[in-house]
Amino acid sequence: SGIGKGPMPLVCSTVCGNPYAGLVSHLRASWLSGKTRPLEYRTAQLEALGRFLDDKKEEILEATAADMGKPSFEAYFSEILLCKNELNVTLNNLCHWMKDEHVDKNLVMQLDSAFIRKDPYGVVLIISPWNYPIHLFLVPLIGAIAAGNCVIVKPSEISKNTERLVAETLSCYLDNDCFAVVTGGVQESTRLLENKFDYIFFTGSPRVGRIVMTAAAKHLTPVTLELGGKNPCYVSDTCDIPNVARRVVWGRFFNAGQTCIAPDYLLCSLEMQEKLMPALREAIVEFFGPNPQESPDFGRIVGDKQFQRVRKLLCSGRVAIGGQTDEAERYIAPTILADVQPSDPVMQEEIFGPILPIVVVANMDEAIDFINARPRPLAIYAFSCDSKVVNQVLERTSSGGFCGNDTLMHVALTSLPFGGIGNSGLGRYHGKFTFDTFSHHRGCLHRSMGLEAINAPRYPPYTQQKLGL
Ligand code: NAD
Repeated sequence: SGIGKGPMPLVCSTVCGNPYAGLVSHLRASWLSGKTRPLEYRTAQLEALGRFLDDKKEEILEATAADMGKPSFEAYFSEILLCKNELNVTLNNLCHWMKDEHVDKNLVMQLDSAFIRKDPYGVVLIISPWNYPIHLFLVPLIGAIAAGNCVIVKPSEISKNTERLVAETLSCYLDNDCFAVVTGGVQESTRLLENKFDYIFFTGSPRVGRIVMTAAAKHLTPVTLELGGKNPCYVSDTCDIPNVARRVVWGRFFNAGQTCIAPDYLLCSLEMQEKLMPALREAIVEFFGPNPQESPDFGRIVGDKQFQRVRKLLCSGRVAIGGQTDEAERYIAPTILADVQPSDPVMQEEIFGPILPIVVVANMDEAIDFINARPRPLAIYAFSCDSKVVNQVLERTSSGGFCGNDTLMHVALTSLPFGGIGNSGLGRYHGKFTFDTFSHHRGCLHRSMGLEAINAPRYPPYTQQKLGL
């Protein structure tokens, strides 16, 4: 563990026993020099990120396959294509986003200039998780660079092959005076967080989110927290069952269920549970064949600890489909659990694996009450042929994001803000929202030195006449 290899900035490991203090102050000096501010500099660094994605495409697919058996298509779509999309949107719009925003003025200020300056924060820390180990550091990094910051990236130590790839190669593309990769786990992350950053962007669990926010509070550092939770998916009695099944199975079993916005559990009537079951089975067979363990399109659990945790959750309700496991491969079959009770273990934590429990509710009202009685999720899904039902679920619940009649797809639009609320996080990003997240919106007034007479009424002495009395 330590600082990523390559021509990295000078690192002083002895400053007050803080191994990262030298790195942080080096980046701060670079930021203060102003070199990250010009559009040309930001554009050049972003283009270098594009080359990183192009040059390392094969290695990224190999590393994510080695880490969690990520199918090539899934890795290509989520780790490369979505990042390139974000990059293109940013490069195409950066010039416009960076411009001062001129605002309305009052009568007294007609000769002045009033504007919002998009200022970089300074030195930014990005901490990311293992499930989309490229995407989840790269998308925030794109916004942080676009906004003119210096950045330290701390990828997850759990996706170790991807971590190694990033540590060994990213520095060959970026300006090492301004951007660095720090590797390692809890210990390194803890030491890193002792330093004062100007912004911290964290993606991970709500538990660690609290630790990060506490560390940030010591320095009054603003944070974005992209966290997780249990995302409900309500299926009404009127819907196109085969289509619902395909869209739910895709969203739940993409990346072997290790997706923060995956539908975590289904809520539907008893009748719908019975009708859905054969369609869910059919969709699973259609996607992964009769034995998903042999499918090149179905992933594995990232590590042994995570495998043991997810496997334990199989004992809830009744296994209606799947349920097979293979410890040696960290394989858990795409599994549907029926008749699950709210008190069952699988309903007590975010599943983050290929298990879909179904909890039976009487109707939409009960589903909404069920959702509202729990922490606010990152995403809510609602399926119905009746758009009034979808709108009711949207209107009467609260969540980071929402998608009607599909799963996951709202993440793919850079024009939509992506982020949590309450237990699922704080802040938003994607597209311009990422640029804005990493920009301080500085309110500026540049006054004219002329027409001094206009100012006379605000200067002392405050006569009765000035008070309008
Ligand atoms: P995690 O919280 O365990 O780890 C995330 C990062 O924090 C890693 O880089 C890790 O090294 C670091 N970390 C771990 N413990 C730490 C500590 N005590 N102090 C400081 N840093 C620490 O999360 P994970 O297991 O890697 O990822 C899974 C979680 O992330 C799930 O809850 C999932 O929903 C969530 N997630 C959210 C999003 C989102 O966009 N909202 C995306 C992906 C994953």
